[in-house]
Amino acid sequence: MTPKVIKTIAAMRRQSRQWQREGRSIAFVPTMGFLHEGHLSLIRKGRELADVSVVSIYVNPTQFAPGEDLDKYPRDFERDIRLCAEEQVDVVFFPSNEEMYPGGYQTFVLNESLSDKLCGRTRPTHFKGVTTIVAKLFNIVDADYALFGRKDAQQALIIRNMARDLNFRTEIIVAPIVREPDGLAMSSRNKYLSPVQRQQALVLNESLRRVEALWREGERDLDRLKKEMATAIESRPECRVDYISFVDADTLENAGDDSKKILLALAVFVGNTRLIDNTLLQR
Ligand code: AMP
Repeated sequence: MTPKVIKTIAAMRRQSRQWQREGRSIAFVPTMGFLHEGHLSLIRKGRELADVSVVSIYVNPTQFAPGEDLDKYPRDFERDIRLCAEEQVDVVFFPSNEEMYPGGYQTFVLNESLSDKLCGRTRPTHFKGVTTIVAKLFNIVDADYALFGRKDAQQALIIRNMARDLNFRTEIIVAPIVREPDGLAMSSRNKYLSPVQRQQALVLNESLRRVEALWREGERDLDRLKKEMATAIESRPECRVDYISFVDADTLENAGDDSKKILLALAVFVGNTRLIDNTLLQR
């Protein structure tokens, strides 16, 4: 069945309250639309966990800096609705900018420890926009579960900590990265890549797999691993490393000898398109 499309905050709140009166649990997947299998995996997991499912489609302007791709971010609402229908989504929340940020808007939510690390170095205002919109959406949808992808590992950690710190009742679930058959992590931004860039973008996944293999063999020299990755990536003419970081998976501080769970995260410009990927290395 085609999902119900709700565009106002008041109507979304009414819907959630009605479900709650009926004793139905709610799973929520926030997205910026242009859905792919990564999003659908979150929707499916939500359907397993809860009685009803809500997907938001909103390209949030406050998480884009001037000069970033806000205006050309890919959109295809009709296709998104079709995919949501196939996944038996109950409601698509599709608000306008005026609905989310009316004139006089003044309040932002900021994680003060993690927002300037990793992606925050290149995108200093990004996570402030993310935490603000997700806090607003959590208040509006009032879900039992919200699902996020590990593709955006820093985002997932920041949101988990926000939900804890601000006492949101919504339980945060983080699901694995979904990849194309050739290994490229799915992303709406993959659409920007030319055929040559699409081919060269495989180096992100390949270099992660290579480090995983060396790690399994016992290599622990993080500088060496990083250099090897950078060399592999920069050998592709379209690719330029933004960052390659080995960090503690909980604090995002540089990994040390005592880090148990290391997040290896990277961002690479492929042409003008900035792609991210990551993996976890366990000691
Ligand atoms: P976006 O529409 O890019 O804001 O992503 C919405 C949600 O889908 C976020 O929680 C992302 O982490 C998640 N997501 C995006 N791509 C993937 C992927 N390839 N695998 C798993 N989750 C993903």
